Amino acid sequence: MIQIHDPENRELLYEGKAKKVYILKDDSSRVVMYFKNDATAFNNQKKDEFEGKGELNCWFSTLLLKAIDDLGIPTHFLERISDREILALRVEIVPLEVIVRNVAAGTFCKRYGVESGMALKNHIIEFCVKDDDLGDPPIARQSITALDLMPLHELRYITEMTEDVNKYLRAIFYSIGLTLVDFKLEFGRAPDGKIYLADEITPDTMRLWDHKTNESLDKDLYRFEKGDLLAGYREVKRRLARWQDTI
Ligand code: C5P
Repeated sequence: MIQIHDPENRELLYEGKAKKVYILKDDSSRVVMYFKNDATAFNNQKKDEFEGKGELNCWFSTLLLKAIDDLGIPTHFLERISDREILALRVEIVPLEVIVRNVAAGTFCKRYGVESGMALKNHIIEFCVKDDDLGDPPIARQSITALDLMPLHELRYITEMTEDVNKYLRAIFYSIGLTLVDFKLEFGRAPDGKIYLADEITPDTMRLWDHKTNESLDKDLYRFEKGDLLAGYREVKRRLARWQDTI
C-alpha cells in the first residue's frame, strides 16, 4: 500500500507561494499538494499568513477539480487526503498561465486603460509565461509555438479545455449569486504525454464578485485591502456547499 501520510515517504519537490508539493518516494507517479496559510500579492512584495486559508483552498480545489473531472475534463486531482492535502498525479507543469477574462479587471484594465467592471463583447483567453523574474508577461500564441513552449495541437487542446471549464465554472458561480470575473489555469504533462488540468482552483486564482453588492470575495480582499480575506472565502464556501447539496 502507498504510504501517503508517512512524512518519511515524502520528498519536497517544489515550494510555491501558496503550496508545497511533495513527491511520494514509493510512487513517483503521484504527488501530495499541501495548501499553505500564506497569502502573497504583487509578485511576493506583499506577504501574510491567514490561519485557515490552507484548509479553505484545499476544500475549494477538491470540490472544483472533482466537478471538472466529472465533466470529463482530465485533471490531476486524485483525492483529498487531509484537511490541507490533495493527492494528485505527478505532471510536469507547462510554463504557461492561461487566464480567462469574462469582465474587465486587474492587469487587463491597467494594460488597456479601461475601467474595472467594464462588460466585454466576448470573453478572452490570454496566455502568460510562467516566470516570476519576467513578471509573467503575456505571450501571443505564435510566440508560444515559436519558442517551443507548447506545440499547436496541444495549445488548441488546452484552449478547448479552458473554454469548457469557463462555461461550467461561470454557471456554477452564477447559480450562487457570484460573477466569475476572471481566473487562471495551469496545465501539466504526464510522463505518457497526456495533458491534464493541474494546480489549484481557488479564490486565490480567480475574481468573484457578488451580483448584488459587487463586492469582491477573492484575493483582491487582501491585494487591495478591500476587506477580510477569510470572511470572503468562507462566504464563497458557504454558497458553494449549498450548490453542492443540489447536485
Ligand atoms: O492580475 P490579473 O488581472 O492578470 O489576473 C487575472 C486572474 O488570474 C485573477 O483572477 C488572478 O487571481 C489570476 N492570476 C493568478 N496567478 C497569476 C496571475 C493571475 O492566479 N500569476
